[in-house]
Formats: sequence, C-alpha cells, structure tokens
Amino acid sequence: MIVEMISVGTELLLGNIVNTNARYLSEKCAMLGLNVYYQTTVGDNRERMTEVIRTALGRADLVILNGGLGPTEDDITKDVCAEVMGRSLKEDPGVRAHLEEWYRLRKKKDVPESNWRQALVPEGAVIFENSNGTAPGLAIEQDGKTAVLLPGPPNELYPMVEQHFCPYIQKRQSGVIRSQMVKICGYGESKVEEMLLDLIDSQTNPTLATYAKTREVHLRVTARAATDEEAKKLLKPVIKEIRRRFGAAVYTACEEESLEDVAIRLLKKHDLTVTTAESCTGGLLAARLVNVPGASEVFREGFITYSNKAKRKLLDVSKGTLRKYGAVSKQTAKEMATGGVFAADADVCVAVTGIAGPDGGTDEKPVGLVYIACYLKDEVRVEEHVFKGNRQKIREQTVVQALDLLRRCILESADGK
Ligand code: ATP
Ligand code: MG
Repeated sequence: MIVEMISVGTELLLGNIVNTNARYLSEKCAMLGLNVYYQTTVGDNRERMTEVIRTALGRADLVILNGGLGPTEDDITKDVCAEVMGRSLKEDPGVRAHLEEWYRLRKKKDVPESNWRQALVPEGAVIFENSNGTAPGLAIEQDGKTAVLLPGPPNELYPMVEQHFCPYIQKRQSGVIRSQMVKICGYGESKVEEMLLDLIDSQTNPTLATYAKTREVHLRVTARAATDEEAKKLLKPVIKEIRRRFGAAVYTACEEESLEDVAIRLLKKHDLTVTTAESCTGGLLAARLVNVPGASEVFREGFITYSNKAKRKLLDVSKGTLRKYGAVSKQTAKEMATGGVFAADADVCVAVTGIAGPDGGTDEKPVGLVYIACYLKDEVRVEEHVFKGNRQKIREQTVVQALDLLRRCILESADGK
C-alpha cells in the first residue's frame, strides 16, 4: 500500500518545531509493511492544503494527515479534507459525549463554544477515540483510497496510533506483518549494505531495511504471512544469516534493547562491577550506563579526569607516562583503565581519552583521535580511533565505541573461560 504523509502546520514550515511525528509515523508505517513514498508539509492554509491533499489522493492509496485537528480557527485539516473528498460534516453523538465527559472530568462546567466543532465528523468516517485529548482521529474511505487524520500533539498521537491506527490498518491488510530489528555495532551503513546486498536485492518477503545511527546500523527485517507463526518462520533464517555474516557485531535482535542495556545485562550475567574513567567524554559514558534501570547493581562510581592533574590524583596515571606520551595516548588510556579499577575497587574499567576539538589537534595527533581502553581480568585492551565530525559528534561516537568495547571484552573473556 502506497502512503503519503502530510504534516500540517505553519509552525513546521517556520522551523519552530521539529517534525518528530513524521519520523514516528514513518517508522510505524515501515513496521506495518506500508510503503511511504512521499512526505509533504503544508501550512495552515486552505488553498495549499486542498492542493496537497488532492495530489496525495491521486498518487497514494493511504494519505495520513497529521495536525490541525484542534478547536482553533487555524485548525482546518478536517474541513479541507472533507471538502476535497466531497463529504459533509455531521455531529457525532459519541464524540460529543466524549467532549462533555472530558470537560466534566476536568471540572470545567461547559465545553467552550469553539470546541463543539470537534464533534463534527465527515459522514461515514471511522472514528478513532482520543484517550488524551478532545479531537478524535478519523479515517475516510473512498474509491479505494483512504485519508487518515491524526492529532498533532505527540501525547495524543502516539496512543491513538497504537490503540486505533495500527489495528485499523492491520485489519485491512491480508495476513499479518511481523518485523524484527537486528542491531549492529562496528560497521558503517554502506559496509552493512554491501555485505547484505544479495539479501536486500533478492528478498521481497522478508524485506530488509537499514537505518544508520551513530556508529551503529539497525536492520529491520519485515515479513508478511497468513499467520504470526508463519511470519516468525520466515524471519528466523534471515536473522540467522545476518548473525552468521556479522558475528559478534550483532549486539541484539530485540527492538527495545540498546547498547548500554546489553552492556549492563552482560555485566550482571557475569557478576562484574564496572567503573568509568573519562577525559574527553566528561561523564557521557557513565550517563549512558546509568540510563539503564538497575545499573546500580554493577556501577557504583565513575571518574571524570579532564586535566592531567586529575588523571594523576584520581587514577594514579604516572607523571612519566603523561610527559613522555601525552594525555591522549595508548599508554595513558591503559593507565587510566588500570587506575580506575583499583580506585573504585571494580572488576572492569572503561577509560577514554581523546581530542574532541575544535582546537588542540596536531599533524601527529589530529582532532578526533581517541583512545579507548578496557581493563578486565588483569588485561587491558586499547583501541585507537580517529572520529570525524564536530566536538559533539566525536564525543558521541567515542561513547558508543566505548560501550561496544566493554561489551566485546566481556563476551570474549567469557568465551575464553
Ligand atoms: P491542538 O488540539 O493542540 O490544536 P492539533 O491536532 O490541531 O492539536 P496542531 O495544532 O497542528 O495539532 O499542533 C499542536 C502541537 O502539537 C504543536 O504545537 C506541537 O507541539 C505538536 N505537534 C504538531 N505537529 C507536530 C509534528 N509534526 N511533530 C511534532 N510535534 C508536533
Ligand atoms: Mg491546533
């Protein structure tokens, strides 16, 4: 099913808000096996919106309109869409009751006059109840085409999509769609695509889509089948083949699991405590670990040692090492990791030291040069990387790489047992 998504709002055109709903809806469509061919953004303008909806209905099977369903004068999505599709508006008793209940529960006696407009729905439309607001979602079907109207505020949109939109689409599609995310760390998107080209090109069911993240690539594998069991059966060999090609670089095949979740899970599994010794990332690595609920079981403290003095004082990095090799060096990273383990009385320490820029780079040590060390069981592994991008990007990449090094060190140490 070909989809066109129309985001409505002058705020979006002016750059006042980021169009996060489009990202969310596109991802949902991918999960539902729908093909989004176009994304359009239009302001709160009757003429232009009419034109955009007409065009969309001409080239897509499903048009998703988002925003402009509210009670104010500039909320015109419903009126314009109904007009383009030749439907008159009629008050719906269910929506009217929902509005009354909404205001009664919030201790407001009367529904403001302008809000009654929200009880008007295009004749014959399917209504999606809004559990977090007053404007209902709507689906208008006509001549094999469908327009779906969804509210703009994310706290109204997300539950409506989960509770009503997804089931509505699933019911209209033959069979079921099941998708699984495989997450890979340590390969760039083009390399991943190259290594999977035969699969991407030849497969129509399941399909494979790649999403590039910071130093990660996520792969969505989507299967369509008559039953959920059959869809699962179709996914299994493809996921197995991806694992075979990428080995330990696949850190999870679970949609909800992040890299830090996996690191914490492995630490718990192997009964290890961890600490961090950070220079250029200034606590970002520790923050990512602490993102995980229950991190306290394995993480008690971390060190931010930005200056040479701090590296010496807190991590016992030797003066000689700093003088001879410099703060951004393999040797310093190694001593930071070792010092961290002893200072925190932990089993593992991940240490990072690097030049995040924009200043401070030399020919020999350019901006982006980062050393990441991991101490585990009397062994320290150090990696050298040169990351590209601005200060923030370099620091983000460092953190991802550090989490991945931690993960790989635990896996390898467990394997070698
Ligand atoms: P309301 O009843 O609040 O008027 P609405 O359905 O008319 O809802 P809009 O008026 O278009 O929606 O947007 C309301 C708010 O929802 C915006 O100010 C913004 O905070 C958020 N919003 C709208 N569209 C988007 C979008 N595409 N991405 C992210 N947030 C959005
Ligand atoms: Mg509005």
